[in-house]
Amino acid sequence: RAKGCGRNNFQVFSPVMDRQLKERLAIETSLRTALATQTQLDVHYQPLVDLETRRVVALEALVRWKHPSEGHVSPLRFIPIAEETGLIGELGDFVLQRVVADMARWRKAGHAALAPVAINVSAGQLARCDLRGRIAELTQANRLSPALLQIELTEGAMFDRVGAEAIEALRALGVRVAIDDFGTGYSSLSSLLRWRVDSLKIDRSFIQDLATDRNHHAIVAAMVAMAQHLSIKVIAEGVESWSQLATLRQLGCRYAQGYLFAEAAPAERCREFLEGSPLAQADFDAEPLKAV
Ligand code: C2E
Ligand code: MG
Ligand code: MG
Ligand code: MG
Repeated sequence: RAKGCGRNNFQVFSPVMDRQLKERLAIETSLRTALATQTQLDVHYQPLVDLETRRVVALEALVRWKHPSEGHVSPLRFIPIAEETGLIGELGDFVLQRVVADMARWRKAGHAALAPVAINVSAGQLARCDLRGRIAELTQANRLSPALLQIELTEGAMFDRVGAEAIEALRALGVRVAIDDFGTGYSSLSSLLRWRVDSLKIDRSFIQDLATDRNHHAIVAAMVAMAQHLSIKVIAEGVESWSQLATLRQLGCRYAQGYLFAEAAPAERCREFLEGSPLAQADFDAEPLKAV
């Protein structure tokens, strides 16, 4: 009988569940190896863009895993497993160390005005690890200001007291806090008031058909207005088309991120993102002429 089910609620393991369990175990095992060797893991950076100035205002750090036989494995697959198995602490620390090292390298290469870097932090990480202590330690060792780091939390991460205290400790250090994937998950508007956050990122699912779906248009309009009233920055995630961009600008959304501007790139290819000049490939005012 499966553990944790009700007394009269018998559950039989099906072949599908068996296969899923084996798959998870395989990922767990190879993730342990990846963390031990560190050669398969990397961090890429995707810019967040100010739609008024066209400048990059921050970079989001996204972990990448190149499995020796499976090829690239999506974080959507291995982050949840890392959470369940407790490997998230080690993985999160790898990302944090890599980000700080990359920032130190960028500064050494002459990029004086570093863009802040946003790191994704999951619920277990916030609860179990001394993130504040680690950030303080690593930034100090590399002579970087902790204010150059931001963290992105999914809404579920914040609802317990431990999470709330961790957020306050990070904010006291100067680390800015964003709510990721806003509008999905354990969404609660009161969380915006209870825990002070600096920005919210509207989930890609609302942006996808923003220009064509009236309901999503209404929801995004409401989120932008609400954020403005609360003096919270609002960032649209997953912007891929000019019509989405035009709609966002109409609604007064100031910041955006997505393939329309740039995909995540390895640290060595972030030069353009760091120079403080407007993104070259994004002419925000005019839709590019379509080839005829
Ligand atoms: P997220 O934090 O919401 O990150 C945005 C995801 O959307 C990234 O996927 C990014 O590559 C993708 N994306 C960006 N622009 C577009 C676009 O225009 N269109 C589409 N279709 N996708 C876009 P990625 O890198 O696969 O990461 C997926 C999720 O995994 C992240 O969602 C985040 O929740 C988690 N994650 C990634 N790196 C880390 C990490 O270092 N630590 C933790 N705890 N979670 C991470
Ligand atoms: Mg994120
Ligand atoms: Mg997101
Ligand atoms: Mg997401």
